[in-house]
Amino acid sequence: MIRLVLLGGPGSGKGTQADVLKEKYKAVKLSTGDLLRGEIRNDSELGKQAKSFMDKGELVPDSVMIGILDKITADFEAKKQGYILDGFPRTVPQAKALLEMLDKQGVTLSMALLIDVPEEELVRRLSSRWTCKDCSSTVGYPDGKPEGAVCRQCGGELYQRDDDKRETILNRMDVYKKNTQPLISFFEEKALLQQIDGLGTFEEISGRIIDLFNKKEIK
Ligand code: ADP
Ligand code: ZN
Repeated sequence: MIRLVLLGGPGSGKGTQADVLKEKYKAVKLSTGDLLRGEIRNDSELGKQAKSFMDKGELVPDSVMIGILDKITADFEAKKQGYILDGFPRTVPQAKALLEMLDKQGVTLSMALLIDVPEEELVRRLSSRWTCKDCSSTVGYPDGKPEGAVCRQCGGELYQRDDDKRETILNRMDVYKKNTQPLISFFEEKALLQQIDGLGTFEEISGRIIDLFNKKEIK
């Protein structure tokens, strides 16, 4: 059963790759960003708490995120359901908490996989990124969105996320460098880190990941 952490900057393509991997490895994808946006849409207590942080491109507090993930991972174990984490952990305290949760559950992480994309490319991608209102899949239009374009997956309406605006993007990049990049050495020290080059077509990148998993005998 796969227990995977995907690491990579905002716009690195980890969400899209997680969609391919979940089919291939019969796992569920847990995107904490999608989860929080769902809570905001439902106007839940958690959503209200999270919104002010998210709108500024800041992180939701660790204590909140860790509490949520503790419940969800325990639930996956109870159902013997493999999973791919997209967007968690995002800070070293979250990463420590995750490894403690797994330890408590008597299981181990398959790996933390970094999809490596240079910063200029991340900013370029986010500035042209459109998201589907219905299924959350994303598409990049570097030359502007063609009129009438809809989601390729489900035909849903496309919108630009509030945090995909220029200032917020720059803030998210800073937050990423400050809070999330240290995770790379954290997982490296635990011998859990693997990385692949995140530049190329969608298929090239999935191919690299699947080759790596085959090599590591991840099933
Ligand atoms: P992206 O990876 O494109 O930046 P996400 O959809 O993963 O976007 O996350 C959007 C926002 O949700 C983040 O900027 C942050 O405010 C919040 N968020 C998501 N996951 C976490 C987390 N693990 N810890 C704290 N905040 C989070
Ligand atoms: Zn869609």
